[in-house]
Amino acid sequence: TASRETLGFQTEVRQLLQLMIHSLYSNKEIFLRELVSNASDAADKLRFEALEQPDLLADDAELRIRIEFDTKARTLSIIDNGIGMSRDELVQNLGTIARSGTSEFLQQMSGDARKDAHLIGQFGVGFYSAFIVADKVTVESRRAGLPATDAVCWESDGDGEFTIEPIELESRGTRVTLHLKEDDKEFAEALRIETLIRKYSDHIAFPVLLSGADDEEPRTVNSATALWTRGRTEVKDEEYREFYKHLSHDFADPLCWSHNKVEGKREYTSLLYIPANAPFDLWNREVPRGLKLYVQRVFIMDDAEQFLPLYLRFVKGVVDSSDLPLNVSRELLQKSPGLEAMKTALTRRVLDMLSKMASNDSEKYATFWSQFGQVMKEGLVEDHENKDKLAKLLRFTSTHSEGAAQDQSLDDYISRAAEGQDKIYYILGENYETVKSSPHLEKLRKQGIEVFLLYDRIDPWMVDHLGEYEGKTLHDVSRGSLDLPASDEDSADESKDDEHQPVLERIADVLKERVETVVVSRRLVDSPACVVASEKDLSPQLRRMLEASGQ
Ligand code: ADP
Ligand code: MG
Repeated sequence: TASRETLGFQTEVRQLLQLMIHSLYSNKEIFLRELVSNASDAADKLRFEALEQPDLLADDAELRIRIEFDTKARTLSIIDNGIGMSRDELVQNLGTIARSGTSEFLQQMSGDARKDAHLIGQFGVGFYSAFIVADKVTVESRRAGLPATDAVCWESDGDGEFTIEPIELESRGTRVTLHLKEDDKEFAEALRIETLIRKYSDHIAFPVLLSGADDEEPRTVNSATALWTRGRTEVKDEEYREFYKHLSHDFADPLCWSHNKVEGKREYTSLLYIPANAPFDLWNREVPRGLKLYVQRVFIMDDAEQFLPLYLRFVKGVVDSSDLPLNVSRELLQKSPGLEAMKTALTRRVLDMLSKMASNDSEKYATFWSQFGQVMKEGLVEDHENKDKLAKLLRFTSTHSEGAAQDQSLDDYISRAAEGQDKIYYILGENYETVKSSPHLEKLRKQGIEVFLLYDRIDPWMVDHLGEYEGKTLHDVSRGSLDLPASDEDSADESKDDEHQPVLERIADVLKERVETVVVSRRLVDSPACVVASEKDLSPQLRRMLEASGQ
């Protein structure tokens, strides 16, 4: 018709579609989870908007998701009576990817399907996964509050373009119809669909109703209660994992979770997850973060960042409060009297969950640390109250480690320290290679004294804030005097210091503009000389960082 427009997908969407169809083919059934998840989000959003505008619900207040299939026609539809989309929303939501950094991320893809599946998984593919199994997808939608004549039909074969056309729809919400590829016709069969819904979407808080072309009555196939409202013992691990995927858009299983109901003065339920992989935009501080907030089971907002400190931005989860008002906005939330106490408690929950993981499953903890260790170190700078807990969670490379792995804790170090050693030695540097071969380590190595090798960007700040641990001060081996336990060799050497005086003076004379003093060193074994900063100086790493930030 005349009013049909053809539009192109944003370049990133094209790339993503190609990669996804390729790399997720062996995992294709996840498309159903993604579409049901979107339908559930749409119902959540409508319920939220209806708090202010009850007439949005009109005469259709029972929010639910319907799945219709037609085996012969090879079609599958996911239908919700949620918020719906206007024309502009459709073009925006199903034609672009808003997440910044996406194109850089997509460029990292290798073309190796298995590796890419992993990368794409952590990115979250959502709606576009429909094209793994469908050669044409039709989306008909009517935004809640808009008239029947303002509905829109979106259609695409996933090949670079989509069409948009005004239509009329009797009721609000969205119908996504998949025209399945010949090879994927199994997804238009009752048993297959039902099994998938039970496996992936049982926890969806709205009823999911299934009906085939020949069925008289649709059947409810999920349990339709919000997972976090159930008792901890009633929820299976598998259900916790699936709920995490719904919540986080992550494809991988979480490392662990913590589900708690708090009663008393303040009542709320929290379910917090630790992901297994860092998202590609972990270092972009502008990226939305935080927990999904519900008040008395009504969805209020995504990304409520007020409940956890910035350094715990990788935590995913839900908070359902019984005390907060239903009309709570981001602003009101910030000012709400109970908020600080909840933040303190939730932060502690996360740290306790991590401590438990560290002591019960060190392999899992190593995975966690490799993904999020650098962010955890920010905690020492940001969260003084939990300094002790955080210090115990730290892991470093040390001269005791096999290679560059950050696998030694402060407690490990102390357990190996010589009696009377009142310092924890460390060295800072640009990367593992430089610190590992630093001449500053020669003497300590020879005396068997362990040194932490620190080379993450945040490390100079981190050690500065940590200061000491269990009464032992942290000491940079490249600065000031080392205060090592004396050995016989040293005193023998000392007697010869006078002999070296002329050489020292000569060197000092040549370098006079550049150094404060030249002395006989006791920290070297093989190298002839090294540069030592005085105690008062900034470390070169910190100086470089401050210079880079324009200070
Ligand atoms: P995500 O769910 O992670 O935001 P998706 O690719 O799954 O990403 O969906 C993109 C956007 O399209 C959603 O954020 C939402 O705004 C919109 N959308 C998708 N499905 C629906 C639906 N059934 N009803 C309303 N909006 C939807
Ligand atoms: Mg989605």
